[in-house]
Amino acid sequence: MNSFTYTRADDVAGAVRVMAADGKARFIAGGTNLIDLMKENVERPTRLIDISRLALNEIKSTADGGMRLGALATNRDVAYNEEIELRYPLLSKAILAGASPQLRNMATVGGNLMQRTRCCYYYDTATPCNKREPWAGCSAIPGFNRAHAILGTSGNCIATHPSDMCVALAAMDALFNVTGPGGERVIPFAQFHRLPGDTPDIDTNLQAGEIITSVDLPAKGFAEHHAYIKVRDRASYAFALVSVAAALEMDGGTIRQARLALGGVAHKPWRDRDAESLLHGQSASRDNFLRVAEALLRDAKGFGHNDFKIELAKRAIVRALGLAASGEGHP
Ligand SMILES: Cc1cc2nc3c(=O)[nH]c(=O)nc-3n(C[C@H](O)[C@H](O)[C@H](O)COP(=O)(O)OP(=O)(O)OC[C@H]3O[C@@H](n4cnc5c(N)ncnc54)[C@H](O)[C@@H]3O)c2cc1C
Ligand code: SF4
Repeated sequence: MNSFTYTRADDVAGAVRVMAADGKARFIAGGTNLIDLMKENVERPTRLIDISRLALNEIKSTADGGMRLGALATNRDVAYNEEIELRYPLLSKAILAGASPQLRNMATVGGNLMQRTRCCYYYDTATPCNKREPWAGCSAIPGFNRAHAILGTSGNCIATHPSDMCVALAAMDALFNVTGPGGERVIPFAQFHRLPGDTPDIDTNLQAGEIITSVDLPAKGFAEHHAYIKVRDRASYAFALVSVAAALEMDGGTIRQARLALGGVAHKPWRDRDAESLLHGQSASRDNFLRVAEALLRDAKGFGHNDFKIELAKRAIVRALGLAASGEGHP
């Protein structure tokens, strides 16, 4: 047993203050990831700061035409919010592709952004893992790596980010509002999660003591032309082998703007703006979709068991773009 102190935060300032005073403390929201990690002895916090009662669960429109999701809004409340379903169906569908209804009832927006990898070696304290213990070694590179990354990997870690919600948020260029000992700041989606490099133990650019308070969705929701495809081993309750969020702005048969985010392939939701730009001003044809898929996967590298993901990702991209262009996902 590892003993820890439990504190319930009354407000954001108090939560930040307690966190800043104890480097080994952890915020707990829905607990669906953190408690599992504590049971497996992977996370050993000295203090849990319960933020679940903070008034951060509102989902509301913003003055600039977008929407704000409170960090403590549950995955269920976001996915079934009427305005989200209508204006941001890509986000709603990505969330509903994840986990199970019971988990989505508990899981929060902030917790989903911060959830740790599902690499089996990370959970198995009997095996070396650089994410769990820096410089211990990576068991996945020479081991069973079927679910692992093919893009943005390093010689120290090939883990993937497991979130579905984040793949849609990446395509939308969401913004994260955070509060810490130094005050408030905004982190653009692209700058939030990190690649493993030499520090796979650090998943995000959140600074010590900072709490996520909300997520802002820009006004453009791509409701008319979007698709979320998740390829996985089971139809539910399974993490993505590959997922694709496609969002298009169409002018007749011509693509004015294209956004593509991939899940299950990298340490963070993967965007490649150069590859996306190949579609701008082009017709919505299979050949053009194939071209962008090839470009997106040009630097992909398999590690044996996961080689199949490279072809799978290409096919999923072509399929998602086809569905998005046809407007089949329109609510
Ligand atoms: C069996 C199973 C299957 C799943 N399948 C999927 C899936 O298919 N797709 C998917 O996307 N997810 C899936 N999940 C993951 C699930 O969505 C996450 O566990 C959940 O989103 C985490 O949210 P939480 O509120 O419970 O976080 P918690 O467990 O409470 O916290 C997780 C981490 O986030 C930190 N944290 C929480 N809130 C904040 C905040 N506001 N600011 C800063 N740090 C914070 C905590 O300190 C902790 O480190 C699955 C989980 C399980 C157990
Ligand atoms: S891939 Fe990353 S998380 Fe998995 S064993 Fe290697 S270092 Fe650990």
